[in-house]
Amino acid sequence: TPALQRQMQRESNARSYPRRIPLELKRAQGVYVEDSRGQVYIDCLAGAGTLALGHNHPVTLEAIQKTLASGIPLHALDLSTPIKDAFVETVFDLLPGDFAKDARIQFCGPTGADAVEAALKLSRTATGRQSILAFHGAYHGMTLGTLSVSGNLGPKNALGGLLAGTQFLPYPHDYRCPFGLRGEQAIDANLHYIRSLLSDPESGVTQPAAMILETVQGEGGVIAAPDRWLQGLRAITRENGIPLILDEIQCGIGRTGDLFAFERSAITPDVVTLSKAIGGGLPLSVVVYRGELDQWQPGAHAGTFRGNQLAMAAGDATLRFIQREGICSHVRDVGARLQTLLQGLQAEFDWIGDVRGRGLMLGMEIIDPASQDGLGQPAADGEKARKLQRACLERGLIVELGGRHGATVRFLPPLIISEAEVDLVGQILYQAAQ
Ligand code: PMP
Repeated sequence: TPALQRQMQRESNARSYPRRIPLELKRAQGVYVEDSRGQVYIDCLAGAGTLALGHNHPVTLEAIQKTLASGIPLHALDLSTPIKDAFVETVFDLLPGDFAKDARIQFCGPTGADAVEAALKLSRTATGRQSILAFHGAYHGMTLGTLSVSGNLGPKNALGGLLAGTQFLPYPHDYRCPFGLRGEQAIDANLHYIRSLLSDPESGVTQPAAMILETVQGEGGVIAAPDRWLQGLRAITRENGIPLILDEIQCGIGRTGDLFAFERSAITPDVVTLSKAIGGGLPLSVVVYRGELDQWQPGAHAGTFRGNQLAMAAGDATLRFIQREGICSHVRDVGARLQTLLQGLQAEFDWIGDVRGRGLMLGMEIIDPASQDGLGQPAADGEKARKLQRACLERGLIVELGGRHGATVRFLPPLIISEAEVDLVGQILYQAAQ
């Protein structure tokens, strides 16, 4: 449309979605969005997983409208308000017991990256150390600090001069194990490597300020870490006095079928970063951490928009709804259904490789069928994945790409997606794949 063309001409080259998803959106409800030509799409991107309850859910809208009508100051910095008190109460109610007992919350600026920055600063202050252990394939944001701990080289190579001393470790990936192992052996080798790095005075990283990771990598291609590996990491970080930061910005808030993705592995982190769905679709980010780490001075982390009342009200309503309506168990059911449908495609088409993820955070890798390493190598130019994405769009389905070469098709639908809608996603994918 002319409006979209005008936008494309005027917006910076750094934009990325409009290039691959050239839509001018006009209306949205539930899992559906409608463009200005009246075309309807199932939205499996949902604001990059932000819209947990889908577009314009009545519960979220009501919370926002009630807040607007109440006359409360819409921004209150750090000051207390009934809305903020209720939001904090809800977050602490929902945190796993052993973590909630002694946790603190820090409100951050509007973005996830700001929460990650805060978590890194908090850990440096509390430990008096500098270096950070991070993981290959990780994504933590686009600021200089968060790029420093992101494993994907693309956006950071051109910048130079990021945080010194970041050490990248191999993330466990069953069929891309850097040690060439599978299953339990791959987990053992990975843990052994990290343990030996931390005990070797020559490695230069025996005293890191923190370890940061996503328990399910999102942008990195939807890779879920095995429970036993996470438990091993928790033991290693505890033995070495290293704060463990879990970035739940994408995988948290019900997305994987647990309220917090780490709950499934029965581990307790020291620091958790939350954003995206925590604001019910509005900008909000927080860090929740063990009280013992709370050694920074007043004002050590700030941000003008950390008192956004509308986001707290929408977030509170979203969290309560997820809890009240048993959304996590729904996510496990419909997530398994979607995963089965994707496995059906995998069986049918030789260019579809690994199907992976958890709950409603799923990925399907497009591979070069000629590659001979079990599940295959991701198609190197990502063109086939882009073609599938376009074919889906033409048939009314929005999906996102990620991972190596952008060859992983990613699914982050609203958590309230129904079985029938999941089946529709499967049908469209099947037609688009022909
Ligand atoms: N961490 C993770 C795991 C993310 O997925 C993202 C966003 N995709 C971020 C951090 C950064 O959040 P934001 O874009 O809001 O800064």
